[in-house]
Amino acid sequence: MKIKLNPKDHGFLMIKVKKRKILLLPGDGIGPEVIAEVRKIIDWLNKNRSLDFEIDEDLVGGAAYDKHGTPITDEVFYKALESQAVVLGAVGGPKWDNLEFSKKPERALLKLRKELKLFANLRPAICFKQLVDASSLKPEIVSGLDIMIVRELTGGIYFGEPRGIKPINNGERKGINTHTYTSKEIERVGRVAFDLAKKRDNKVTSCEKSNVMEAGQLWKEEIQTLHDKDFKDVQLEHMLADNCAMQLLRNPKQFDVIVTDNLFGDILSDEAAMLTGSLGLLPSASLGAKDKNGNMRSMYEPVHGSAPDIAGKGLANPIATILSFAMALKYSLNMDNEAKELENAVQKVLNDGLRTKDILSMGNKEVSTKVMGDAVIAYLQK
Ligand code: NAD
Repeated sequence: MKIKLNPKDHGFLMIKVKKRKILLLPGDGIGPEVIAEVRKIIDWLNKNRSLDFEIDEDLVGGAAYDKHGTPITDEVFYKALESQAVVLGAVGGPKWDNLEFSKKPERALLKLRKELKLFANLRPAICFKQLVDASSLKPEIVSGLDIMIVRELTGGIYFGEPRGIKPINNGERKGINTHTYTSKEIERVGRVAFDLAKKRDNKVTSCEKSNVMEAGQLWKEEIQTLHDKDFKDVQLEHMLADNCAMQLLRNPKQFDVIVTDNLFGDILSDEAAMLTGSLGLLPSASLGAKDKNGNMRSMYEPVHGSAPDIAGKGLANPIATILSFAMALKYSLNMDNEAKELENAVQKVLNDGLRTKDILSMGNKEVSTKVMGDAVIAYLQK
């Protein structure tokens, strides 16, 4: 299939999402190894639950550059547009570090997030009780932790204009970035956070710097207005982002859903993630707006990168990617029960003491990527 798409022409967003179509993009490094385990789970669901997922798989990142000279081809981008969920492994690695900016593997991710208009990034931080020792905080502070950070992903200071570095007087230079948000951008991500809270513990903490930034003041006002209009039944608190960073270390269990902008979300979600111990366990979802039929574009990926240091050795922990697929079942494919089953299967495998090397501790059994995936399927089977 040869398709020419003009990324500037947002008419391509008229391309219809195909129900139940899942696009797997393994990418680079350990990406193919962890995506292979998700593929096994989808095949198992298709066979044993008589489901009709249509799976496609293609190249992205460095692997796509090596074959096609670009980190994502128009064909693959088109497939992403018509898929109900994209599940991505990871991209990048030293082999492609010196490519020019527009050819770098990471450009594929940015293009997918931007052009699919994935404005809400969901990052759960869950501390499995079996792995409480992997956290650098005291067990009583993190045990049972279950919070969700909703980060605005397509606006704010990473995209605002003007931007750049320009010469000023006396041979000095000035770096400029612009932090900007519209009411609509704040409202749509706020709505995602309130909707999520209703399915959880019914509390949203909105974080900004309204004490020193006008965009933060607007953020606070718009979130409050949305709450008062449509979500009065959800508890809302406003918190300055610097205080939130401290509270995450002092008493993280006070939070349920945290909603914040692109910059603060970048930092706070990494901080929250680290409360839980290992990178190999952390899933994420990036969601777009729902159309009138309730369909939306979405991408699911582990938080970790391509881990070139362990690629090809069977050492990668597939749990972050498996849990990312569980999020796809929940948020894109309307299969809450299967999502729960998959999450429970992961818990049981951890209860059995099976561990990939990154989360290995005394008294547990080291297993490979593949054995971990097989063990999850064995519990789905039971
Ligand atoms: P990384 O997340 O790839 O690895 C950091 C450390 O964690 C490494 O020691 C690695 O072995 C370990 N690790 C990561 N995931 C693991 C897993 N599933 N199981 C076991 N151990 C795991 O971060 P990095 O080393 O900074 O980056 C490597 C490459 O990945 C770079 O090219 C970077 O640009 C890219 N990257 C891609 C993404 C993405 O695709 N979303 C995100 C971050 C980094």
